[in-house]
Amino acid sequence: MENNDCLFCKIIKGDIPSQKVYENEFCYAFRDINPQAPVHILVVPKDHIESSWKIDFSNSYYVAKIFEAIPAIAKREGLENGYRVVTNCGDDACQTVKHLHFHILGGEKLSEKMS
Ligand code: AMP
Ligand code: ZN
Repeated sequence: MENNDCLFCKIIKGDIPSQKVYENEFCYAFRDINPQAPVHILVVPKDHIESSWKIDFSNSYYVAKIFEAIPAIAKREGLENGYRVVTNCGDDACQTVKHLHFHILGGEKLSEKMS
C-alpha cells in the first residue's frame, strides 16, 4: 500500500522525478539526490514499509527481493571492488525518509568507520 504523504512512494509512482537505475516488480532503485560517495543509490520496496522496525513475516520477501537486486545493480555500476549497504532506522540513526530504503555506497575506498 502506498502512502500519499511519502516522498519515496511519490518517486515510485513517478509523481516526483528520480534518476532510475533499476526496477522490478518488488523494488525501485534510483540515485541519491545528495550523494555521499561516487556511487550512491537508494533501493526501496514498492510497498510503504516505514523502516526496518516494520519488517515481519508478511513483508520480508521485499527485503529478500531487494538483496537479490543489489548485486545486479552493483555489477551494473562497476562496483566490483566492493560496496556498502546501509539502512537507517529511526531518529538515532538519522532516518529522514520514513519509507524503508537501502543505501548502496561505493566507487571509492569507504571509511572504516561506519558511525
Ligand atoms: P535516510 O537519511 O537514510 O533516511 O536517507 C534518505 C536519503 O534520501 C538521503 O540520503 C537523501 O539525500 C535522499 N533523498 C531525499 N530526497 C531525495 C530525492 N528527491 N531523490 C533522491 N534522493 C533523495
Ligand atoms: Zn512510502
